[in-house]
Amino acid sequence: MSGWTNYHCHTSFVDPDVDREMTPAYYFGQLGERMRRAVVLNHGYNYYVMPSRPEWAADEVAGKIREAGNERLRAAMQAVRELNNPDIFVGIETDLSRDGQPLHDTRFTEEFDVILYGDHYLHWVAKMDSVKDRVRAWLDHVDAVLARPDLDVFAHPFRELRAISNDEVPTEAVEQVLRWADERRVGLELNSQDYVPEAATVRMLKFAADRGLPVVVGTDAHTRDRILAFEVAERRLELAGLTTADLFMPQVEDFMARKGRRSDPKSRPAPGRSGL
Ligand SMILES: [Zn+2]
Ligand SMILES: [Zn+2]
Repeated sequence: MSGWTNYHCHTSFVDPDVDREMTPAYYFGQLGERMRRAVVLNHGYNYYVMPSRPEWAADEVAGKIREAGNERLRAAMQAVRELNNPDIFVGIETDLSRDGQPLHDTRFTEEFDVILYGDHYLHWVAKMDSVKDRVRAWLDHVDAVLARPDLDVFAHPFRELRAISNDEVPTEAVEQVLRWADERRVGLELNSQDYVPEAATVRMLKFAADRGLPVVVGTDAHTRDRILAFEVAERRLELAGLTTADLFMPQVEDFMARKGRRSDPKSRPAPGRSGL
């Protein structure tokens, strides 16, 4: 393989937790042997709430917040499109609210090349006292996330499960998520960060290889030194006894081929159905 496609490339555009230098153009400069292509994205909620700009958080007029967020989203997309590089793509890493609403304006669905959903927004789960209740609430949430027809990839699976279960990742919950992923043919991210639990990830890779589930790789860097840090992903592949040839790893174009059909989960990439 000649370099990874990095499906998880954060920028500093609306995210105060990302190195200021990390712009779409910066990723352009990082393309090479190690990283052949990049999907540039921001968290959905960051477009609409800017912690560094408290005046927006204080604005009670939801419509104004939405419009201001949409304007930032358009500007972020424009910055990537203006690079006019065939190896740089536009994505989003979004969430569902507790009541199942995406934390971005879905009018933009068709404009994204790849849509990742995560589970960053779990304030009600974190407040629950018992691990059992938290895991059950997490599973309910993930069930709703994985049922989204516009979801291309589930980001860093099991990272939050680890956090809410005091570092002990319950095997039954992992297996349940894998069953849903299989039924719904969702893409799973092999995230190259150490805080995503290793054993669950190795289990996920073996399952994905066995079932032909789509797997993509992302470094999910928030600092410049992690952009090309694919080592964790590579180690986990090795621990699973797999190479990339054993997995169904779709091209960005396979996800782009869903444009106009994202209301239909059946349009998700499947092995042997690639248009390439
Ligand atoms: Zn994330
Ligand atoms: Zn991320």
